[in-house]
Amino acid sequence: MKPFVLLIAPPVYDFALYDLFLKPYGLLRIGKWLSDYGFRVKLINALDYNDRLSGGFLKKPKRLFNGTGKFYRDSAGKPHVLKGIKRNYARYGIAGESIEQRLKEEKPDLVLISSGMTYWYPGVREAVRLCKKTYPEVPVAVGGVYATLCREHAEKVLETDYIISGSVYPAVLPVLKHLSLPVPGKPPEEEPLILKEVYGDAAVVRINTGCPFRCRYCASSALNGDFKQGSAEKAFSTVKNIHDNLGTVNFAFYDDALLLRKETVLMPFLRRIMDSGLKLNFYVPNGIHLASINAETASLMFRAGFKEVRIGFESASDDFHRNQDKKLDIDQLEEGVEILKNAGFSGGRIGVYLLAGLPNQYSEEVEESIRFVSRFGVKISVAEYSPVPGTGLFKESVKSSCFPIAEEPLFHNNSIMPMQWRGFTYEDLDRLKSLARSVSVLPSR
Ligand code: SF4
Repeated sequence: MKPFVLLIAPPVYDFALYDLFLKPYGLLRIGKWLSDYGFRVKLINALDYNDRLSGGFLKKPKRLFNGTGKFYRDSAGKPHVLKGIKRNYARYGIAGESIEQRLKEEKPDLVLISSGMTYWYPGVREAVRLCKKTYPEVPVAVGGVYATLCREHAEKVLETDYIISGSVYPAVLPVLKHLSLPVPGKPPEEEPLILKEVYGDAAVVRINTGCPFRCRYCASSALNGDFKQGSAEKAFSTVKNIHDNLGTVNFAFYDDALLLRKETVLMPFLRRIMDSGLKLNFYVPNGIHLASINAETASLMFRAGFKEVRIGFESASDDFHRNQDKKLDIDQLEEGVEILKNAGFSGGRIGVYLLAGLPNQYSEEVEESIRFVSRFGVKISVAEYSPVPGTGLFKESVKSSCFPIAEEPLFHNNSIMPMQWRGFTYEDLDRLKSLARSVSVLPSR
């Protein structure tokens, strides 16, 4: 009998959650890897918006044609440390009854649970408890972002057998050895398990791993280590495989540095897509690097099927970039937008991200940035900063925050604006988000 591993993507507790291509990508890769090494694997995706059983308990979520949309949602009581926050809290995901029913179908040899944002740990804890309630003797391991960045906290609050920090390979190997399960000899590839219930409407793909920049507000290097260049050919065969098997046409890139070494990776990939005649839609929820945009790449992206481009611009303040990221010159925005528009992207399809709520940042800086970007006729998104352990800004954030963010990951949640202060209040943030909406160009249908 093949050893059986159950993979679980847990539900999420938060003030808000929208599905912008949120997929259990890491679990699907691990699933493919383990099945290649002789395991039988099954996935319980608690963020499955098509789950039939949950439809009997919860309102069916609204979805869009491109595979984004809402999840099942149920109001939830706030954890006591968040009681003072005047916003509704909710549990996103399939009904607990549905998870329990799926757990009871078959007893696994090992359960692997993923974890996303550090402040989403209540959903991970719920998944661990449901597993332990259903089969107390089955070992449960938790990996992923929270397990990596907040290991000590996870050890305290999760009643789990193993915490896997860092990259699954080699971190999971001692667990497999300890349980006398087969131990794969090579790390997982980018290829995922191809499951209709996860990738039918939209799939995700990653060509390169990590990012060579070390922006002080970003956890990319803490999570992915150094930049690793991917393979255009492998990415193409993954996309084609998913399309051929499921008919999927929407693909989102999970890359942190999609345009890096574009001549040897992204551009050959896009040419392969065009030569194949595949009619696909591509999205970049993580954004791309402004400094890497040129006319040839922009044109290829548009012709290969990119439906939007998002740029991580962050701020129009030179000081900001000098102190926090050194990844761009603000003068590059005008030229970058012009190149993208000449390639065919309308202003509403060009998203520019600005970062708000850094330690000791004044609201005026974000307001000036919004007014600066609004000159170029694009869509502006104000993204709230989340203080994350392992980043260059975390120590400074701990000192400046009015919340005990070093002890309690629930306070990393950007919805509560952890770095609010008299120079940048929650009301300022609301006002600036409205301003950004009012000066943004909307995508045409
Ligand atoms: S913010 Fe972007 S450019 Fe900076 S380290 Fe993160 S992924 Fe790289």
